[in-house]
Amino acid sequence: MSNELAFLPFTKPTIDEDMIAAVADVMRSGWLTSGPKVQELEAKLSELFGGRPVRTFNSGTCTMEIALRIAGIGPGDEVITTPNSWVATANVIIEVGATPVFADIDPKTHNIDLNKLEAAITPRTKAVIPVHMCGLPCDMDHLYAIAERYKLRVIEDAAQAIGSTWKGKRIGSFGDFASFSFQVNKNIMTGEGGCLVLNNAEEARLAEKYRLQGVSRQGLDGIDVDVLGGKYNMTDMAAAIGLGQLKRLEEFNGKRKALAQHYFDTFGADFEALSGAELPVADFENSNWHMFHVVLPENVNRGDFMQKMLDVKIGLGYHYRAIHLFTLYRERGFKEGMFPIAERVGKQIVTLPLFPSMTNADVERVVSAVKSCLL
Ligand SMILES: *Cc1c(COP(=O)(O)O)cnc(C)c1O
Repeated sequence: MSNELAFLPFTKPTIDEDMIAAVADVMRSGWLTSGPKVQELEAKLSELFGGRPVRTFNSGTCTMEIALRIAGIGPGDEVITTPNSWVATANVIIEVGATPVFADIDPKTHNIDLNKLEAAITPRTKAVIPVHMCGLPCDMDHLYAIAERYKLRVIEDAAQAIGSTWKGKRIGSFGDFASFSFQVNKNIMTGEGGCLVLNNAEEARLAEKYRLQGVSRQGLDGIDVDVLGGKYNMTDMAAAIGLGQLKRLEEFNGKRKALAQHYFDTFGADFEALSGAELPVADFENSNWHMFHVVLPENVNRGDFMQKMLDVKIGLGYHYRAIHLFTLYRERGFKEGMFPIAERVGKQIVTLPLFPSMTNADVERVVSAVKSCLL
């Protein structure tokens, strides 16, 4: 019977005809690279983030690298981050020549444990990159109290947190740098892309230079290059998709939230006790519900579990394997046992399907398949 059901992926972007038409219009205009659509998207994003300067880029990875460069972080500096993230979060620290330092995560929120972060600070620590995992924000009061006390720059990896809030304030509308990704799996997307929320006009000017070969221009033919920049600009086609997506941000996040609520209702209050699995923190105040995670009990092999779900046409993700256990990081001295919570979560976590065009019936189908594997 399950063979008659359509494959249910763990995520899927919502693309409407208006977005498709907007991309076609850009192509017909002949202006494909960064132009009026990029400017319009940056203006709309700045409005969203309370008027702070915003610049767009071609990924949510280079956004963080550029924030580190703007903050003047490089060789000899330490940057503290979480081992539980997409590897980009730590790679950018190495990319600018600084030293990545990890602090283990909180077993419930899966965000960096801020007490452990504080304990990892040394005189060489210059910045921290916390991640708002699945859109569930870190404790922003605690985070910024630490940053203030030790004079640290903060680059929030808010790749997953567009539309998330902290005590009623939008993530990105306050604090230091906030970096968002518009990669296709995120709550709003541009195919590939990202944006960085900055503190002032001077930082925004630097961001523009790092985004495009370090170039600054004056008049019709004046040009200079005084910093080493790269090629990180967003296309107008991508920005046109982003403008269409941004219009639907509240709707998309509202749908995700309702589906997440339906997951909890369908799993039922006794699911964790009966199965030994862990559900996410049921935060319906702050989170944008970027993903819905289940941490499997120790005795369940994740690969086998994913295969059983695949047999009934349900695709799962796993976000994330602990970064410090990748070869590149082991070669830098990191070892098994250093961050046991991130290691356990990294081995046992699965991401269940959650995206705006899913139905309650899809959620029920997933829950019943999970229960038939675990109960
Ligand atoms: C998606 C993601 C990134 C990377 O964003 P890209 O746009 O793919 O470069 C970084 N950190 C986290 C937590 C992410 O989810």
